[in-house]
Amino acid sequence: MARLIDSNHHASLKDYERIAHLSNDVRDLREEAEMLLPKLQGRRVWMVNSTAHGGGVAELLPPLIAMLRELGVDANWLVMESDEDEFFRLTKQIHNLIHGAGDPDLGNGAHALYEKVSHSVAARLAEFVEPNDVLVIHDPQPLGAGALLRERMGLTAIWRCHIGLDEETPETIAAWEFLEQWAVKYDHTVFTAPEYIPRCLAGRATIIHPSIDPLSNKNRDLPVHKLAGILANGGLITATGPTLTPPFEERAQRLQRNGEWAPATEPEDLGLLFRPIVTQVSRWDRLKGWLPLMQGFVKMKEALKTNTLSEEERRPLDLARLVLAGPDPESVTDDPEGLEALKEVMDTYLSLDPELQDSIAVLSLPMTSPKNNALLVNALQRCSDIVVQNSVREGFGLTVTEAMWKRAAIVGSPAAGLRQQIRPDLDGRLVRDAHDTDDIARTLTELLLDQERRDAFGLSAQQRVHNEFLVFAHVRNWLRVLAETLDGRAAA
Ligand code: UDP
Repeated sequence: MARLIDSNHHASLKDYERIAHLSNDVRDLREEAEMLLPKLQGRRVWMVNSTAHGGGVAELLPPLIAMLRELGVDANWLVMESDEDEFFRLTKQIHNLIHGAGDPDLGNGAHALYEKVSHSVAARLAEFVEPNDVLVIHDPQPLGAGALLRERMGLTAIWRCHIGLDEETPETIAAWEFLEQWAVKYDHTVFTAPEYIPRCLAGRATIIHPSIDPLSNKNRDLPVHKLAGILANGGLITATGPTLTPPFEERAQRLQRNGEWAPATEPEDLGLLFRPIVTQVSRWDRLKGWLPLMQGFVKMKEALKTNTLSEEERRPLDLARLVLAGPDPESVTDDPEGLEALKEVMDTYLSLDPELQDSIAVLSLPMTSPKNNALLVNALQRCSDIVVQNSVREGFGLTVTEAMWKRAAIVGSPAAGLRQQIRPDLDGRLVRDAHDTDDIARTLTELLLDQERRDAFGLSAQQRVHNEFLVFAHVRNWLRVLAETLDGRAAA
């Protein structure tokens, strides 16, 4: 029902300090920590979420916790567990509702089920925590358990909600009506954007942006030979000579014309190192806007048949390929919605003309080794001239942060989380709407024809991530929230 996770983070503050463009960030962090730490003395901090692998939260906790620890905070990570599948179906429905999607009717037994599981999770968490500790609960799954512990043990509790929508709809109202009784029990809450704070928590929330770790396997710099080695070992290109490292145990697969999965170098090399590449990497989820992206790219290619561009101008558009990459379906068999979303992507791809099928690659990335998966995503993003995130809804979108850090030119939808990151026409482009396939086609065409603009977007995007969305700012913000919440408790 609750498991202590050893996040096994690889880098120490000294490693970051050695890197020229990061050393000031570490210095600022140390200075601020020195000021704030006395307020936290002797308190243990427990971060609690519902999964140790997969998705944005599991991605950002390890470096956050490791840095807090190195600075002197006794920070720990617990994952709640439950074998009640119905409970996770319910919290998935609530998750979708907070994003404005799905059936607002949560069903008769929902409150009783949520309460029952929350009680048993709270009982397990109680074996770890003490009244003097600080509990940081992530997202709706462990929200109830945290509220119960706050009530029972009097410890300080903060709820960190990673999801949200910038408008109120019948769906969001249903979700917040369900969660309110638990959320209001917390000392404080944290959201990703001001627009996401529900009415019931107005005045009791702080904004903290998620962050990426510049030294993680997903984001670290890859010198050319490493990049090529990863692509070859991971099955995305064919090595023409011997490689230093052996092939990954599991390699990337590409959807073939007959509907089967085969090595990603079949039926021919994708051209990742030589062609203009447009990429989206995401979970297979309808809210990621896969279909309109594919249709927009198809429109761009089809327009080539009739437009009057010179040969030289046509070339980048002719050569461009779209890469749609997501997790190996074998790894998401417990996510029927995800498998359906992938099936829609596959069906749409299979319905295309062979020529268009050649210019689009639907890729399945192996998930059994988190390290190899992260390296493959890193390498793919670095091979991409344009990284798209065409989400219909997005709480934040770490995939965009990751690509901005790598100076890719970004095309985003106007989903709220992406607007937190991409300043339109400065760090990248925002299409009018995730479903506007004409605008997607137009935007991709313009950017593929304009290397200078892509470079300018990339430079600006990297600066923005450096200033706002690296783990250093994230840790500083958490130190402030922890200190202020404890101050608030003391004053009360
Ligand atoms: N991701 C990955 N492999 C995949 C698909 C996604 O490692 O095949 C990662 C991606 O790089 C990012 C995270 O999963 O770090 C997704 O976070 P994001 O905030 O973009 O969206 P979420 O999945 O939380 O909705």
